[in-house]
Amino acid sequence: MRIDKMLANLGYGSRKEVKQLLKSGAVKVDDVVVKDAKQHVDPESETVTLNGEVIEYKEFIYLMMNKPPGVLSATEDNNAETVIDLLELEDQVYEPFPVGRLDKDTEGLLLITNDGQLAHRLLSPKKHVPKTYFAVIDQEVTEEDVKAFAQGVVLDDGYKTKPGDLKILKSGIRSDIELTITEGKFHQVKRMFQAVGKRVVYLQRISMGPLALDETLELGEYRELTDEEVELLK
Ligand code: URA
Repeated sequence: MRIDKMLANLGYGSRKEVKQLLKSGAVKVDDVVVKDAKQHVDPESETVTLNGEVIEYKEFIYLMMNKPPGVLSATEDNNAETVIDLLELEDQVYEPFPVGRLDKDTEGLLLITNDGQLAHRLLSPKKHVPKTYFAVIDQEVTEEDVKAFAQGVVLDDGYKTKPGDLKILKSGIRSDIELTITEGKFHQVKRMFQAVGKRVVYLQRISMGPLALDETLELGEYRELTDEEVELLK
């Protein structure tokens, strides 16, 4: 890739600004000053430095966020804050987007990346990637509900869901449950409970495929996936 493109992609300025930077002699490739914006570099095998600091180049970025409530899982919005607004500017340079949607009031695991192929695979209905949610329900959840979910329930638009794996963690006037589903219909968890006459009062995604929410992340915090986690997702 051209050195000016690489530096511009990484947010070191416009192509024009990067050209000036190169002219100033601040950039070296394997210890040799490079002033020509057209010079090609291989970021995998060559070391690029700016004023002596090594520049890390990667094509893709993979972030796990603990999505807070009140924030949209979208890239931009005129009125509300989005999960992308919560990222540091240097991560925004990669133009990442959230993989799928969580409702504004839902919390928990959200994958954010600029790897379109990976996002497509994770979201493809054909892949049946399991997603597990923790929820608090406004009333008692029963074994009847477990059986109904295992067979699939009919949503308000007449669609019958695929089987869902419902586990009752605590049953009472409010119940704690875990639900694993392999689809991603709009408001699916809330609508599945609506189908059995119950209401979700709190919803948190705790896993997506092989990826579990890192519990050390506070709401609104995020971290890069490890190489192992990225491999697991592929
Ligand atoms: N199901 C819902 O109802 N809401 C979400 O945010 C995710 C799954």
